[in-house]
Amino acid sequence: MDKISIKNLEIYAYHGVLPEEKRDGQKFIVSADMYTSTRKAALEDNLEKTVNYALVCEQIKECLLKQSYNLIETVAEKVAETILLNNELVNEVCVCISKPGAPIPMTFETVEVSITRAWHKVYLSIGSNMGDKKGYLDYAVKALKEDVLIKNVLVSQYIETKPYGNVAQDDFLNACIELDTLYSPQEMLEKAQLLEQGANRERKVHWGPRTLDVDILLYDQDIIRTKDLLVPHIEMHKREFVLKPMLEIAPYAVHPVFNKTVKELSDLLM
Ligand code: ATP
Ligand code: CA
Ligand code: CA
Repeated sequence: MDKISIKNLEIYAYHGVLPEEKRDGQKFIVSADMYTSTRKAALEDNLEKTVNYALVCEQIKECLLKQSYNLIETVAEKVAETILLNNELVNEVCVCISKPGAPIPMTFETVEVSITRAWHKVYLSIGSNMGDKKGYLDYAVKALKEDVLIKNVLVSQYIETKPYGNVAQDDFLNACIELDTLYSPQEMLEKAQLLEQGANRERKVHWGPRTLDVDILLYDQDIIRTKDLLVPHIEMHKREFVLKPMLEIAPYAVHPVFNKTVKELSDLLM
């Protein structure tokens, strides 16, 4: 990946926990490494095809001056988000904010916070087997599309499937979704659960009937094994109702535990 950097941009701003920091302000120094591909722009020698660093400097300045924050952690988070949301060609950014005049009664050069943020490729499985099933799936898709921290939402066809597990219930309508997001895996899970709540889902029987179920199948090539989040989804390779729509939108997506593509997993299952 190529990198375009802005180094030590100085901005006088008003962030800090102390009232005098918010009142009098001080110097902040911002650096940003933006990961992108410069190849196309370079071959055509065309500014339109690359990241306009002059514009990014303006975006950073606006971000620092728009509002006062207590923490440079928050400032860094806002700057990273602004850069990723406003520069289509930047996939990943490392932002560093330092505060050489921080109120510490000792001799020091500076204090600084560095963070790396990026767009992440996520695959979701959505399903419904109660009430207006298509309506619930449509609602989930629409809500995902409207979220500013999500882009490039691609949806498979909705397929009808027989219920999974041993609970007697109505047939399901299932689909898979590909998207890019700035959410962390845990935040993506919260988003999924918020969508389920928005569809008035009640958690009664495990694998029982539900208005809307939203599961995270893959999050980049991450392997996550925490108490409330297992990614890749622990059952995805065993489920036709997951692999079939995945085959349609992402046959070459790789399952990082089995190191197999969706196509390979689906050939093994069906
Ligand atoms: P299954 O996970 O077998 O499809 P389910 O979707 O019916 O079953 P739920 O009752 O919706 O199960 O979820 C139970 C818990 O699963 C959630 O509270 C969540 O914390 C956890 N969970 C673990 N991994 C994931 C994931 N990849 N996506 C969504 N939820 C997950
Ligand atoms: Ca599920
Ligand atoms: Ca679920």
